[in-house]
Amino acid sequence: MAEVLVVVEAADGAVAKVTLELLTLARTLGEPAAVVFGAPGTAATLVDRLAEYGAATVYVAESPDLDGYLVAPKAAVLARLVRQVSPAAVLLASSQEGKEIAGRLAVKLDNGLLTDVVAVAPDGTATQVAFAGTTIVTSRVTRGFPLLTVRGNAVTPEPAPATATVREVDAAVDDTARLATVVRRVAEQKGSRPELGEASIVVSGGRGVASADNFALIEELADLLGAAVGASRAAVDSGFYPHQFQVGQTGKTVSPQLYVAIGISGAIQHRAGMQTSKTIVAVNKDAEAPIFELADFGVVGDLFTVVPQAAEEIRKRR
Ligand SMILES: Cc1cc2nc3c(=O)[nH]c(=O)nc-3n(C[C@H](O)[C@H](O)[C@H](O)COP(=O)(O)OP(=O)(O)OC[C@H]3O[C@@H](n4cnc5c(N)ncnc54)[C@H](O)[C@@H]3O)c2cc1C
Repeated sequence: MAEVLVVVEAADGAVAKVTLELLTLARTLGEPAAVVFGAPGTAATLVDRLAEYGAATVYVAESPDLDGYLVAPKAAVLARLVRQVSPAAVLLASSQEGKEIAGRLAVKLDNGLLTDVVAVAPDGTATQVAFAGTTIVTSRVTRGFPLLTVRGNAVTPEPAPATATVREVDAAVDDTARLATVVRRVAEQKGSRPELGEASIVVSGGRGVASADNFALIEELADLLGAAVGASRAAVDSGFYPHQFQVGQTGKTVSPQLYVAIGISGAIQHRAGMQTSKTIVAVNKDAEAPIFELADFGVVGDLFTVVPQAAEEIRKRR
């Protein structure tokens, strides 16, 4: 069976959830093979987890260059690996880095590329959601192999333990891949909540929440559900919540198992970032709010009454 290369994303020695999703998806297309890039020593803590999710091979490219020069060295090494192993497909996360590596790879190999894919059929046909979520597109790469970047939460990660063979990859790159140097890294302050793009549950607040202080209600419900917190652009622009939590066309795209929209009207630009959520719950005092067209479960009511009641019920059941 031909290999399907999955470019691994990891932080602090842990494989990102999106990579486990990609390995799960890769099993439907061929034999999953993970590709780890990083400074020397990066792969050691990742291999077992990658094998647990079905990686039969882990290609390891380790060099200070792969850590110190943004994505160009990764694209160069990946292009060389692809030429060597002729994979059935290459999958990357639809993250900023994943998309940039994929774009560079497509140019280097003169290969087609599909980004922001939300589903892939066994024959490589990909599904994308376009034009602020109003159009579903199915397409295939017709030049070369399927080179796809896949959105987080598009697939439910399922373990399929394998015994991984680790193969060292030549990580040497020339000077053209070393033009942009990483000069400093600043770790983003992270709370105990799951990362918005990866969370299984997202609780978002909109302008209806009415103040930054009131967002404590949204955070409380999120914490009871083990969820990430999101916000509409109106809430962000009003200063209720920081921009990195904005969901929508000009914010993050999320696709959790459960999305709870509280005091959010459901403008098309907001929907663009959340409408592929598996189950959508809306709380809004206006029964005509467009969010109810999308919701699987809607509560018409004042959020300042409904949310504390919901929180109380969840607390009772814990
Ligand atoms: C180019 C462009 C890009 C954009 N990108 C984004 C984006 O990425 N994300 C995004 O979200 N928006 C985006 N927008 C803005 C978008 O058009 C909407 O203005 C925005 O989503 C509205 O946010 P909202 O639903 O919180 O506010 P509103 O539309 O003002 O809705 C507030 C809702 O809260 C309800 N409400 C009020 N009080 C209560 C209460 N006490 N209890 C229950 N319900 C209550 C109201 O009935 C109403 O439905 C973009 C717009 C443009 C033009």
